[in-house]
Amino acid sequence: MSDAAPTVLLVEDDPQIRRFLRVTLPAHGYRLVEAESGQDGIAQAATRAPEIVLLDLGLPDVDGLEVIRRLREWSAVPIVVLSARGLERDKVQALDAGADDYLTKPFGVEELLARLRVSLRHAATAAAGPPSPVFATGDLGVDLAARRVTVRGREVHLTPTEFKLLSILVRHAGKVVTQRQLLVQVWGPGAAGSPHYLRVQMHGLRHKIEETPVRPRYLITEPGVGYRLREAT
Ligand code: CA
Repeated sequence: MSDAAPTVLLVEDDPQIRRFLRVTLPAHGYRLVEAESGQDGIAQAATRAPEIVLLDLGLPDVDGLEVIRRLREWSAVPIVVLSARGLERDKVQALDAGADDYLTKPFGVEELLARLRVSLRHAATAAAGPPSPVFATGDLGVDLAARRVTVRGREVHLTPTEFKLLSILVRHAGKVVTQRQLLVQVWGPGAAGSPHYLRVQMHGLRHKIEETPVRPRYLITEPGVGYRLREAT
């Protein structure tokens, strides 16, 4: 394997998932480092300098959230959380603690690879300096500097609140942003408990941007967690 292969640190006590990734990741050009506990994960993150961390939240020793907080004290490495279906609260807490994204178990190879690509791209963009003010995916174009949004080549007029909401999702394109993060960033800390603000604005935004608002192509709801701007593939 070439030295350019990104290193993935997997912190997971489930041997089945470790076995699955031991086969899958090297086959797709990643180097895999494994840790079976939170303490070992933190130690390996420091010594192996992985490009990305895949972190199970239910670890035998340290709580996964605690691992995120500890890593975030000194590292900006992308963290993708592995969490069971139905534990939306855990995912939200993990994202708010500084995780970048999550995968719901059981997950497939394609979904895993897509998440890894998005997280690595974001890390590379962040390292390269200030982001480009112009974002484009599919038939959606957003010029953050000019505050100009186009859909299928036509300019769309957004309210200031709609634009703010869209610009946050654009800056995190491909990644989920929690309801809380959006509420606080758009309306301020006092709005953290008012998810209906978000639903109303998202409804308006979808009607301006999506061809079929009830089956959105770009503005995806992650039930119980938040929203994700999906990039066209
Ligand atoms: Ca576990």
